[in-house]
Amino acid sequence: MNNDSGVSRRAFLSTGAVAATVGLAATGIAAAEKSEGTEDGGETPGNVLASTYKSYAGHDVTSDAVHAGEDSDSSSYPIYQGTTNRGRYTRDSNPTIDSVEIKIKRLEGAEFGIAAACGMAAISQTLLTFLKLGSRMLYHRCIYDGALGLVDTVLKPGGVDCVSIDMTDLSQLKKALSKKTDVVYFEVHSNPTLDVVDVAAAVKLAHDVGALVVVDNTWLTPYLIQPLALGADIVLHSATKYMMGHGNGLAGISCGSSKLLGRVQKTRKYVGGIMAPFNAFLLHQGLKTLPMRMERHCANAMKVAEFLNDHPKIRRVHYPGLPKDPGYAVAKRQLKGFGGMLGFDTKGKSNLNVKLCKPWTSLGDVETLISTYGRDGRRGIPDHYRRMSVGIEDPDDIIADLKQALDKA
Ligand code: PLP
Repeated sequence: MNNDSGVSRRAFLSTGAVAATVGLAATGIAAAEKSEGTEDGGETPGNVLASTYKSYAGHDVTSDAVHAGEDSDSSSYPIYQGTTNRGRYTRDSNPTIDSVEIKIKRLEGAEFGIAAACGMAAISQTLLTFLKLGSRMLYHRCIYDGALGLVDTVLKPGGVDCVSIDMTDLSQLKKALSKKTDVVYFEVHSNPTLDVVDVAAAVKLAHDVGALVVVDNTWLTPYLIQPLALGADIVLHSATKYMMGHGNGLAGISCGSSKLLGRVQKTRKYVGGIMAPFNAFLLHQGLKTLPMRMERHCANAMKVAEFLNDHPKIRRVHYPGLPKDPGYAVAKRQLKGFGGMLGFDTKGKSNLNVKLCKPWTSLGDVETLISTYGRDGRRGIPDHYRRMSVGIEDPDDIIADLKQALDKA
């Protein structure tokens, strides 16, 4: 058993109107909510819960990001590198890993967090816990291609009925759900197309038939949305991305109730996908600045999206922060900020020779990263598509780099 006291998830969240104004102000959502009169009301619970974080210790998210799970005697949580520490074998439990589980479960408002070697380990260990021969899983048609690989190479051959639907259309979810559905799985913003799923509405439909809802929150982080507060059963992450933040280590985590996560913990013990203690140490460092980094990622992404939106060589920008984006209304209701990820497709084939931005895979790092995709009908990826993880550099420098690359493309 790890993790600190068994305080319930609900107890971590204040339902009062303590708006996280620093976060809201930078993204422009605060003003929008105020004008709709929803910041203190019950009309849009997504807004209220996602924007009123207060831990059971009475702290703001920024304070918990710094202090939760830390050793009060050390400015940096020590690395317990031994295979055995305090009588525990590291595959079961390790002080450094336990401490970062405490920090993240606090941020997600969960009772329990189970760290994993990487995001894929978190996804596979979680899904393998709740799916077996004859189980049925519904998933949004566009998910991270590694998760899709798990569906195709492990879950389907193992006899799990995996059905892809377009969850941006909740009538499709409603139609596909039945008492036979065990798990509903999706990302809040899909990788790489930025489809937006209405978390609270999807949860309601899934729970009506008794299905478990597992949400990948890698792209938004608990700073921008807490899926558990919106009713999801399990939230998981590739902590390699925004949580780590600096592109320096792989990590993953699943969070939820002690009852459900206790089962995932057992799977982890036997599958073996435990986080490395050194990566847990790095993750602690990254998480301390997560709120500030997310503010900057959101603000920069909005500026970049607006620039791309006006550029003659761009066919479409996929960014839920733009009012014309199909996901805008839902994103505005359920998020504290629109995130640092966007996508765009150029009008024709183009070679973008960026200099400051890096044409690398991965995302959520301080650097701006751009990945290129071919058309993929199954996931709804258009021709000439690029995914952009907008970093924390000066936004004018990012835009100048994109401009010079697009002008020559
Ligand atoms: N989930 C999402 C949404 C991702 O974008 C990724 C990787 O890009 C993963 C999971 C897998 O993470 P990892 O590379 O840490 O296994």
